Amino acid sequence: MSDFKGKTIIVTGAAMGLGLAAAESLASKGADITLVDYNEEALGKAKSELESKYPESKFLTVKADVSVEEQVKNYVNETVKTFGKVDGLYNNAGIEGKQASLVDYDINVFKKVIDINLLGVYYGMKYIIPELQKNGGGRIVNVASVGGIRGVLNQTAYVATKHAVAGMTKNAALEYGKYNILTNAIAPGAILTPMVAEAFNQVNPSDPKAAEAEYASHNPTRKLGDPKDVGNLVAYLLSDENGYVSGQVIAIDGGESNMY
Ligand code: NAD
Repeated sequence: MSDFKGKTIIVTGAAMGLGLAAAESLASKGADITLVDYNEEALGKAKSELESKYPESKFLTVKADVSVEEQVKNYVNETVKTFGKVDGLYNNAGIEGKQASLVDYDINVFKKVIDINLLGVYYGMKYIIPELQKNGGGRIVNVASVGGIRGVLNQTAYVATKHAVAGMTKNAALEYGKYNILTNAIAPGAILTPMVAEAFNQVNPSDPKAAEAEYASHNPTRKLGDPKDVGNLVAYLLSDENGYVSGQVIAIDGGESNMY
């Protein structure tokens, strides 16, 4: 795996879950990282943890809601101001919305899911791509989901936005590949993060662990994913070692999305 020494990567949704796991993986390889999240308290805690584990890396925190265009512009600007340049973006912040059938889906929740999962990812690419162009190229990893490849019962808004992330990823790869900007999406299955724990809580509030065990029993590997597995894949896709993978939506789900 390539060394990230001297590289600067922005991670959104960095305070916990898959964002924090990717930040750990990148920091362990020497990257300097801008940690972006709208949960300021959790963001500060994540920064302190990372600083004590990885003293050779520098960490900048920027509080931002990725659904607000000005705040996205600001996290990119602050990164360039602090580190002098940026080499990559892990465009990860996202929400699940509520579990509800298509007909009953609350339209306000639907619009919020679009603002964060779709427009948040779009703004991230819109503001980082010109900086990557100035810097001779770079890497972008957007976070879709298996819900960006297949349908997921009772998650219409989530599935719609994650399919949109897959689509925007393909377009970015087509339009900016000539600038040495490789853009991919990852499509995680169930990885045990706070978001997924909350989903099991909604499925079975009296016994979320039973819902988790039931879900895992259908996976070819009979387990849920570990955030570290995702962090390692993301680090590869963001590294110079990835010289030719672009425009792909890569499932990381123990093989489950291949099952009929
Ligand atoms: P999580 O809820 O554990 O963490 C998400 C982080 O993003 C939190 O720190 C939260 O504060 C932040 N965030 C949410 N909305 C934000 C916003 N508008 N602006 C800034 N920060 C915001 O979730 P996770 O499981 O780590 O998921 C991360 C990404 O991975 C999401 O896009 C999610 O859809 C995707 N994903 C996760 C799984 C999984 O199994 N965990 C599966 C498929 C896709």
